[in-house]
Amino acid sequence: MRQRAVRRANQDRRQAPESAATGRTSQSGGTGGRGVVGRSEVSRPSALPFDLPEASSCPDESCSIATPDAAKLCPGSQTIGLKVDLVTVKALVNANALRHLNGKAYRFCPAPDCDIVYFDPTASSIFRKRDLGVRVGQKETEDPVPLCYCFDFTAADLRRELAARGKTEIPTFIAAEVKAGHCACEVKNPQGSCCLGNVTAAVRSLSLER
Ligand SMILES: [Zn+2]
Repeated sequence: MRQRAVRRANQDRRQAPESAATGRTSQSGGTGGRGVVGRSEVSRPSALPFDLPEASSCPDESCSIATPDAAKLCPGSQTIGLKVDLVTVKALVNANALRHLNGKAYRFCPAPDCDIVYFDPTASSIFRKRDLGVRVGQKETEDPVPLCYCFDFTAADLRRELAARGKTEIPTFIAAEVKAGHCACEVKNPQGSCCLGNVTAAVRSLSLER
């Protein structure tokens, strides 16, 4: 059923002039219909805020004509995105978004007030906060604000420890677990890398707040 709906959506896109004819069957598709709407929200090029300058249109970062840095910039915030493995994106986007994953070289946008989490300008593909199954700590200000995805620590945990004891063992604990090879950052943390830098920065800013 779902397969048929996806095929139907593909047909609709390829055969736009016939969409009026196929529209009747699409509408009767129930959940399939909603799936098509989801698709357009996630990856339809015309719905994306891609306004990159002409010079960046060469998809090859090593191309001398291209502006290499433009391909690294988040189309929403113009922040330099951090390279993430495809497996990170696959592990963290939700089922609906996963069906629209057509990029190969995604970057993670760390900007706090930008709603875009992953982008691959060469594939005109972006995933926003709502496309992920987890909250993105860098982009949340209200609890829960995840800090360590592997061992499940939030900003509130840090705040509690600092309030109760004036110090925290959380970074030491995480470092020990990382050293023991127990972390799984590449499939748990949206940035695809170790959280220790973020945790240390959070301890510093929370300590300054007190
Ligand atoms: Zn961004």
